Amino acid sequence: MQVYLVGGAVRDKLLNIPVYDKDWVVVGSNPDEMLSQGFTAVGKDFPVFLHPKTKQEYALARTERKSGSGYTGFECHFAPDVTLEEDLIRRDLTINAMAQTEDGTLIDPYGGQRDLNDRILRHVSDAFVEDPLRVLRLARFAAKLTHLGFTVAEETMSLMAQIANSGELEHLTAERVWQEWHKSLATQNPEVFLSVLRDCGALKVVLPELDCLFGVPQPEKWHPEIDTGVHTLMVAKQAAKLSSSLPVRFAAQVHDLGKGVTPQSEWPSHKMHCHTGVKIIKKLCERVRVPNEFKELALFVCEQHSNVHRAAELKASTKLKILNTMDVWRKPERLEEILLCCQADHAGRLGCEDNPYPQKAIFEDAYKAALSVEVKDIIADGFQGKTIRDELDKRRIEAIASIN
Ligand code: ATP
Ligand code: MG
Repeated sequence: MQVYLVGGAVRDKLLNIPVYDKDWVVVGSNPDEMLSQGFTAVGKDFPVFLHPKTKQEYALARTERKSGSGYTGFECHFAPDVTLEEDLIRRDLTINAMAQTEDGTLIDPYGGQRDLNDRILRHVSDAFVEDPLRVLRLARFAAKLTHLGFTVAEETMSLMAQIANSGELEHLTAERVWQEWHKSLATQNPEVFLSVLRDCGALKVVLPELDCLFGVPQPEKWHPEIDTGVHTLMVAKQAAKLSSSLPVRFAAQVHDLGKGVTPQSEWPSHKMHCHTGVKIIKKLCERVRVPNEFKELALFVCEQHSNVHRAAELKASTKLKILNTMDVWRKPERLEEILLCCQADHAGRLGCEDNPYPQKAIFEDAYKAALSVEVKDIIADGFQGKTIRDELDKRRIEAIASIN
């Protein structure tokens, strides 16, 4: 049998970026031989094995043919006579369809290196359209590699649009959608994931709540970019600059979903969006099975961002009420996360990228002041039962007011 390094590891090594996981392809072998060498079988649909020591993935070379709808509708053929070239041609992108031998020789039958040098994300063959997941994967690779100058080839974009129009994207499971969205949040430019999906018409199928923000106007005085979709992409970009936390990046992307349901008669004003957005985020998170940690932060940011922006005008008692609602006493890291999202929202407007955001310090100071009040002092002063809570709030308000 011959073993080759394939996929992302080859690509990322050539790009001089860190390689996190190594995928291998095995030519000229069969499951029995793999098992006898100590590998364990993991693939349910495909012949994939884990190396006994490194636990890296080794897949038997295979060919694939479309046989039904969606990601699982594949007929997969693996046999010792499947060649490396036959295995590589079923892969999504030319830059993902290169292999490397143990001695470092590159095998590149489909022009991966040329496209890597030209910074092009290009499909390997027209069989690209057979798997709708590739639309999401491509958008994710665009997000990962855009800072190196990569763009999507025009012909590939057309195939993505063809998939988006075919109805095949509707067969993608929630897990697949979240898996790619989640991975895109960890890239340098998560906003590109959304914009590429938007450009090929996939966003309206996969995440219609985000797609419908495009074309919704906001008041020009606050939002020179006007369009809510454009604003959302800008906020997503700023959030990635400000924080490496994936929940923060996610919350920033969905914070304005409420603006998508404002009646047109009220445009460009969106008085209720913090309220209406909550319901939409809950439904979206349920559908895509977004983990709770992400959902919770997104809900707080949606509900509170307009309040936080008004920090300078708020009374001490209102600031405390907001801090109480955020439950920052039990989860202190939450305040910083919410404030970073609000800052991204503020900076994600045309011409405002470098504007200061004093609201953040106002809330941090209010939090610190409120935290200086000691419950044990309140008890020592003779308060009992429910009156402790009331006195705590009262002293916290005084503490916040004293720094104003
Ligand atoms: P990364 O691991 O950095 O996310 P990767 O390119 O290694 O990127 P994997 O999901 O690990 O992506 O897949 C390994 C390789 O398998 C890919 O490079 C590609 O060649 C192929 N591949 C994976 N999924 C698909 C798919 N849906 N369609 C076509 N080829 C795919
Ligand atoms: Mg990989």
